[in-house]
Amino acid sequence: MSKPIATLSRTREIMKQYELGFKKSLGQNFIIDANILKKIVDQAGIDEHTVAVEIGPGIGALTEQLALKAKQVLAFEIDQRFIDVLDDTLNPYDNVEVFHQDILEANLLPFLNKHVEEGNSVKVVANLPYYITTPILMKLLREPLPIHSMTVMMQREVADRMAASPNTKEYGSLSIAVQYYTDSKVVMTVPKTCFIPQPNVDSAILRLIKRDQPLANVKDEALFFEIVQASFGQRRKTIKNNLQRAFIDRFSKDMIQQWFEKSGIEPSRRGESLSIDEFAVLANACHDLIQ
Ligand code: SAM
Repeated sequence: MSKPIATLSRTREIMKQYELGFKKSLGQNFIIDANILKKIVDQAGIDEHTVAVEIGPGIGALTEQLALKAKQVLAFEIDQRFIDVLDDTLNPYDNVEVFHQDILEANLLPFLNKHVEEGNSVKVVANLPYYITTPILMKLLREPLPIHSMTVMMQREVADRMAASPNTKEYGSLSIAVQYYTDSKVVMTVPKTCFIPQPNVDSAILRLIKRDQPLANVKDEALFFEIVQASFGQRRKTIKNNLQRAFIDRFSKDMIQQWFEKSGIEPSRRGESLSIDEFAVLANACHDLIQ
């Protein structure tokens, strides 16, 4: 078998052969260490019943490792220049399909219904373009997609925020948005030296396993997320201050005081000390009182 794509020499060779440069604007930092990719595939639990969905295959380094283990790989790449390259580099694998599409524009529910057979488990695996990590994950989480899990590389700092627990400096509205839908864990950190070109920051692999039901019982999700967001407006302030400030045009101070009384949440607490369940109790009290 030929050398994996994920080596410095093959990556350089392929980029040279097609006279390509890396586009920083599209987050193009390619992995040049096949062992890291094998670990990602391992952590994702890819096997012969898995349909792996990859975002941003680039020249196919991760796609190749997925193709060796998965039943099928469906990969979305925005950069037209790589479509022919992938045709060539992934030629040995007949279980890969590449789609030239912006993942943020993709209509994924009908797509997955069309491409995935019953009994197969859909797992997203990707070295994400870092400039749109959060929008991509929020799209995958908010849409009612038949996805089992996401095992994705991102900036280490963002991974730490997504997996953070209450009462830590990383905990905030992003942690809650992600953990509401998933059980999330940083499974590996990856140094800059494993990429070409090297990014400015270290990276981490986050594994997000989708929950069957969201973590908390929330009556109005939009209101819940609005309250969460507002509670972290100014981290040093109490939730009461943050909510009064954020909702100044919509709700009186008295009304906000009633949310605290009904929920039993102490208004002098800071957002970072509230669990997702406690935010749900507060948002549900607000929902009941403003009906
Ligand atoms: N998978 C390769 C690897 O691990 O070496 C490349 C990963 S690179 C960090 C991110 C890839 O995502 C690039 O190939 C880039 O062109 C692609 N990309 C960027 N924005 C995208 C989007 N909106 N939709 C799909 N692919 C995108």
